Amino acid sequence: MTIKIKEEKDVLLINPLLHPIEFETPLGMLYLATVLAENFCGAKILDFAFEKNYSKLKKELKVKDYKVVGIYSMSGFYTSAEKVAKMVKKLCPETFLIIGGPHATIFPEEILQNKLVDGVVIGEGEKALPKIIDAIKKKKNFENINNFYYKKQNNIIKSRKESLEIKNIPIPNRYLLDNLEQYKFSKEKMFGYKALNMIASRGCPFTCEFCQPMLQSMFGTKTKLRNPREIIKEIYQLKSRYGVEAIWFSDDTFTFDKNWVHDICKEIIKQKIEIKWSCNSRVDTVDEKLLKHMAKAGCIQIRYGVESGSDIISQGSLGKKITAKKTRKAFALADKYKINTWAYTMLGGPEETEETFEETKKLLREIKPVHIQLTITTPLPGTYYYKNLDKMDITLRRKPFGKVDLFRDSITDSKKLSHKKIKRMYKGFRKEFKQYYLERIKHEI
Ligand code: SF4
Repeated sequence: MTIKIKEEKDVLLINPLLHPIEFETPLGMLYLATVLAENFCGAKILDFAFEKNYSKLKKELKVKDYKVVGIYSMSGFYTSAEKVAKMVKKLCPETFLIIGGPHATIFPEEILQNKLVDGVVIGEGEKALPKIIDAIKKKKNFENINNFYYKKQNNIIKSRKESLEIKNIPIPNRYLLDNLEQYKFSKEKMFGYKALNMIASRGCPFTCEFCQPMLQSMFGTKTKLRNPREIIKEIYQLKSRYGVEAIWFSDDTFTFDKNWVHDICKEIIKQKIEIKWSCNSRVDTVDEKLLKHMAKAGCIQIRYGVESGSDIISQGSLGKKITAKKTRKAFALADKYKINTWAYTMLGGPEETEETFEETKKLLREIKPVHIQLTITTPLPGTYYYKNLDKMDITLRRKPFGKVDLFRDSITDSKKLSHKKIKRMYKGFRKEFKQYYLERIKHEI
């Protein structure tokens, strides 16, 4: 009989979400793997975005033994992270298993109750992970590692939360992804160009009820900006090394600091970089001068958080603090400079009624976005909305820890709208506004 000896490897990073609605390179894990490589530690990334099941993971773990496995977790698909954790420990029982990401940042102690989990990285992991791996390799203790919770003799040991300086953070090495072409292809379908995502900043200081303070728990309360010089360097790299024609800045609010955006635009124009790009924005963080400059520097699409056409909802329970008037102006300005518009909209929050949703539809008919993305307002753990369900008279049908489909399912009943009614309204909306949906989403209607 021959005994199979498994190949020994350092780190495996896993994104367990199967087939998401929009494909993006898993930048969080790419940053980690890049930093680990700089610390002489090899990391492999397994992203299940293009997979239908976890057979690839089984294959990987049958031939390789990883010292450390890190699993990314978000509340909406935490059950997938748990499923993957079970598979990992079954095939590699000696592996040190770490959970990271937003869900882990909000519930580190609860996650550590799971016997299979050895540690939790909270917030940003670029500093913590190399130290954890070094400690494991050298059999040292984990003392003085910030952003890390672990178990010691049945006790949970906590550490201080640290927000990282990202001004000159290393540029992610995208060659660490096996299937880079697939990401480019899917972006091409949605965008018209071969595109990849990058980030120029982290975090958002605004306090929308359905989003915060989860985001601030991850990245701190301020927007952290990268050095424009580094951003330009990465744009060059994306073009020359990876062959992209366009970039999707997946920052939470790219236009938060106008002067900084002007600096980036100035450099793109000065250096004659031919690149198209797209970004997330808020209607109250742009003005004519900025949009004109952005268009000149290659911006072809701007994604605004419109959320609702009702000021009562935007200013009230959503905490978005924008007005329909501001939204109209921001869309008109983008149209003026031929920047395609994308409207993120929401349905079914605490104060929503059939009338307020009619206001949203009316606003959308006026502003005519090129794309609309409607999601069902869902109280995600770690948000003010989730914390204040009682105050808002909202009943949860189930906890949002399993598969939460913000594009199809409602898990809330309010005094004004039942989940069934919300779902019916959602369906009706998608039928009426079908021409505004992206091809891929249209097929799923
Ligand atoms: S929804 Fe957008 S603007 Fe509001 S807090 Fe989240 S990222 Fe910031």
